Order: sequence, then structure tokens, then C-alpha cells
Amino acid sequence: MGSSGDNHDLGLVEMRRRMLIVGNWKMNGLIETARELTEDLLAGLAGRVGGALRCEVVLCPPATALQVVNQHLGGAAVKLGGQDLSEHEIGPHTGEICGIMLRNVGCWYVIVGHSERRANWGEENPRVARKMAAAFRDGLQPIVCVGETLDERDAGRALDVVREQLEALYPLLPSQTGKRQQLVVAYEPVWAIGTGRNATPGQIQEVHGFIRRNLLERLGDDGRKVRILYGGSVKAGNAADIFALEDVDGGLIGGASLKSSDFLAIIDAVPEKF
Ligand code: PEP
Repeated sequence: MGSSGDNHDLGLVEMRRRMLIVGNWKMNGLIETARELTEDLLAGLAGRVGGALRCEVVLCPPATALQVVNQHLGGAAVKLGGQDLSEHEIGPHTGEICGIMLRNVGCWYVIVGHSERRANWGEENPRVARKMAAAFRDGLQPIVCVGETLDERDAGRALDVVREQLEALYPLLPSQTGKRQQLVVAYEPVWAIGTGRNATPGQIQEVHGFIRRNLLERLGDDGRKVRILYGGSVKAGNAADIFALEDVDGGLIGGASLKSSDFLAIIDAVPEKF
């Protein structure tokens, strides 16, 4: 796969939804640790039945480790993603990294609107939508995070919050059907991220089903192809139950993606859904 290339053709869309497991390393991983973690993961995956993956796997290391992880991934089936991107194009934006740069270092995907960025960097729905549009513009598949806080859930507003987050995206989605289908939505209840607190399968399916209906309403048949990931304290022990849910197409994994054995066990929990 290497650096940016022809494989990023967003016009090529699979007709079914392939399960997707994304490791979000957050601000963890110096060069040496990133190299070791990548090597361990690849070795573990190679040991699986013929090295064949029954799902797509993406690693999102911190920006400083993208290059070394990309070098180690080489032509492997595992893909690379960024954790954030600038809404701007190349230019005078000190400290920012744009989509073209992520592509240049080998990324296929980018996480957009993670709740830690929404909470700590004031990323509100309009900016998240602009970042999603920038990702599409630069040939990356955006993984857009949505989800409610505990206060919002307790106030009975979980679905309203998720609807508002989704509705902000539609006006800036590309018009080409092949591109729209490349959108990935990650439902991450903020109260379940990094807390060890789990949403129940019932809570997860309720919101995922709601997201699917919203996507179908707003995007028609394209909405059927959009993958919806769940994120929030997914571990080897709960992954199988979550991935078995009807409208769950994979997971966005934080803490458990930092240990290869845990991440591999989560990958092993992916069912043959299709
Ligand atoms: C995340 O940061 O996207 C996440 C889901 O983290 P964790 O798995 O640690 O809850």
C-alpha cells in the first residue's frame, strides 16, 4: 500500500458492508513503541487462518508515528488512518495537518469529531462537518464520531443529540454516490469512552438503528452502504456481543487497541455477518 496511490479510488465501493475495526491510539506511542505494536499486530494477524482477515482493520497512531507505522504495514492488509485533520488545504496554518499530508504518509481514513476534540478543542457540529468535507476532498474516508454525554442521556436527549450531529453533515456530503457511501459513522456515547462503563447491547442497537434509519431517510440507498461503528470501552470480553448486533458494522477501539493481544482478540470477535 505504501504512500498515497491509486488504491484510494473512492469510486470503488463494495456492494456489501464489510466489518471495520479501527484502533485509535490517541496520544500514545513513541516511535519505538509504535513500531513494536505494529509488528506484534502483524505477526498476530499473519498467524490467523492464512493471514486472511474477515474484516477491515485500520490503525490510527499519533501523527508523529504515522510514517513508521506505514513503513511497517508495507503491503499488509491493515490500513492507516489519522486521528484528526485540518479543514484547510496546504498553507499557513501552524500546527495543523491537512488531508493531503495524511494521504502522503499513507493514510486511507481519518477520525473526525472525536468527543475528546469536541469537548477539549471546541469542535462543534459545523466544524466537524467541514472537516468531513475536507477529508472527502483530499481522498480520505472520514470516520465521523457522534454520541451524547451522560447529562444528555439522563435528560432523555441521546437520540436528539445524535440526530443534530448527523444533520450537520448532510449539506456538506459530496454529491457523488460512490463517495457518500464511503462515509463511516462511529457512535461513541461519551460516558462510555475510556471509563470502562459499557452501554448495554439494547442501548447500542437503539442508537445504531436510529442512525441507520436517519441515513436511509437522508441518503436513500447510499445510506445502506454507510458503516456504523460502535466505540466506548470495547474489550475482548464484550466485543462479540456488540459486533453481533444488527446495525453494528465494527468498532472504534481506544484503550484496548494499545495492547496487541487485546486488539487481536477484538478482531477475532468479528462474526461472519455477510
Ligand atoms: C475512543 O477513544 O474512541 C474509544 C472508544 O476509547 P475506549 O475504547 O478506550 O473507550
